[in-house]
Amino acid sequence: MLMLLFLTLAGIIVDGEWKVYQRSTESIPAIRKLHLALQVEEKLIAERGVSNFLLQQDFSEDRAMHGKLAPVRAASDRSLRNLRQALQERPGPWLAPVMADLLLTEQRLAATRTDMDALAARPKEQRDPEAAAAAIAMIPSTLDTFAPVVAALSSIAIQVDQQFHDGVDSAQLATNLRNVAGQMVSTLTAPVVAQRPLTAQERYTFAKLSGQADQLYGVIEMQLRAYSHKPEFKTALQSIREGPLGDGLDLLTKLFVIGRSSGGYDLTPDQMIASYVPKMAAISRLRDLIVMDMIREAEQRNLKARYFLLATVGLATLALGVFFLLLRVIRRRVLRPILEATDLFVSLANERLITSIPAPRYDDEIGDMMRAIHVLKAHSQERICLGKEREEMIAQLRAASDTDFLTGLLNRRAFFAQGEQQFGIAQRYRRQLALILMDVDHFKAVNDQHGHLAGDQVLCKVAELSRRCRRKVDLLARYGGEEFLLLLPEIDLEQGRAVAEKLRVEIGACDFQLDDGVSLKISASFGVVAFEHDDALESLIVRADQALYKAKDGGRNRVMALPREPGQDAGGRGQDGEGWARADEPAKLSVVSIEK
Ligand code: GH3
Ligand code: MG
Ligand code: MG
Repeated sequence: MLMLLFLTLAGIIVDGEWKVYQRSTESIPAIRKLHLALQVEEKLIAERGVSNFLLQQDFSEDRAMHGKLAPVRAASDRSLRNLRQALQERPGPWLAPVMADLLLTEQRLAATRTDMDALAARPKEQRDPEAAAAAIAMIPSTLDTFAPVVAALSSIAIQVDQQFHDGVDSAQLATNLRNVAGQMVSTLTAPVVAQRPLTAQERYTFAKLSGQADQLYGVIEMQLRAYSHKPEFKTALQSIREGPLGDGLDLLTKLFVIGRSSGGYDLTPDQMIASYVPKMAAISRLRDLIVMDMIREAEQRNLKARYFLLATVGLATLALGVFFLLLRVIRRRVLRPILEATDLFVSLANERLITSIPAPRYDDEIGDMMRAIHVLKAHSQERICLGKEREEMIAQLRAASDTDFLTGLLNRRAFFAQGEQQFGIAQRYRRQLALILMDVDHFKAVNDQHGHLAGDQVLCKVAELSRRCRRKVDLLARYGGEEFLLLLPEIDLEQGRAVAEKLRVEIGACDFQLDDGVSLKISASFGVVAFEHDDALESLIVRADQALYKAKDGGRNRVMALPREPGQDAGGRGQDGEGWARADEPAKLSVVSIEK
């Protein structure tokens, strides 16, 4: 957005300067063309003056007279040619009508010259006065034909740059003044040649022209007030005041005064022309001065605009470069590190500590932030390690609290916790479940005869044999002293009995090697019961204990599997209130006993 704003601003400035540059570039040729057109006008006026003068004379045989006409005609032709070339240099949509007017001017001029030559070829007394008047009138009409060309080129110059409005006006006015001055001389030419008084028409024309000359000069002077600080303008105006409108006008006025009365002029037409016409050059000089000043002004403005344009483009490019550089630095030193830091924070929050943290590049706020992230990462790592250690310790403690320290089997507490789960499953889904309670026979004697440590070894060995006998799903626990419990899911009474029997055989067959080299043979008794739907774990153990008691009572080293009697409740008591768990009622039990 910032860049867009900046570019828009730079674009507006460059566009404005470009327009000034273009305007000044275009106004130079426009003013030059106008200058050429004004020169054409001047040359046509001069040709008109000379032609008018010659028509008053008898010059059919006079080579010298022809010599006067040829240069002015050549000057007119040259100026027309110059204008035509300039117009064709850079054609525009305005060219066609201007060229058409120019062509018409040239055609009229050619026709005028033909008529005039035909007229001049005759001796003066044979000339038809009406034809002569018509021929003289043709020349101003050529000027009228040319007037639109001057008007078009003036308006183009003003359109290109309004600032040249006054200059263009003044140059045109100067040309008009030159025209009026020329016409004043032309008005007096015929009477002076004929040495006759002025006709009423001539008097009127002269008076009118002289008034116009005064007026024009006044307007020119007023228009050029802006130039009054320039000495060359001052001089040019002064030389007009002193020349064509000073001495020159005095001379013509004197002739006019004579022409009003006697017509006895005290000078020849040649003398009149020679003393007045050169003075008119001051008017053309002023016009050229105005035009040159406009061109100089346009050139200066063009140069200034070019420099300003270059400076604007250069500065805008420089500013753009600095802007990009700044963006790069901000991106490298601020934005990218912040994005990286955000990723790192997210990684740390998700405990992804493998993410590497870039080393701080600069000793600034971003660097401080990176250092802080380093510390955070270290703290997180420490915290996670501690957490892991704590979890491991908790797991160890939990395992220790569930394990019998001597045999490594489940202890009684853990057996009850896990056994309740199995019990819950069996109760809910009415699955089978068998419980074996095992007691090592005459264990006290082992202790007594071989010592407590030997007793411990025997217990460990019995635990190991039991472990081998059980499946993964079975729960094996040390119930207390030399008693062990085995809870068997999905096993009925008969299968449970078989498992107990297998274990009994294994224990009986095992040689218990003691540290002191003595080899012992021991046996164990087993009580086996199966789960009934309304049993509780405790009552099942009670029943298993009763079965075990029976096994002991039956002579030890045997398995006693006891099915629950019909009517016997879960608490191990019969309907008559006397539970078969009582050791003194063996007759009521259906006992499966395997003698060794
Ligand atoms: P019965 O055949 O009737 O079961 O006779 P018994 O000797 O095995 O039974 P009794 O209950 O009289 O003796 C059990 C002995 O087990 C008593 C006790 O000192 C011993 N005992 C209990 N716990 C341990 C133990 O962790 N290590 C050792 N070495 N002996 C123990
Ligand atoms: Mg015992
Ligand atoms: Mg025992």
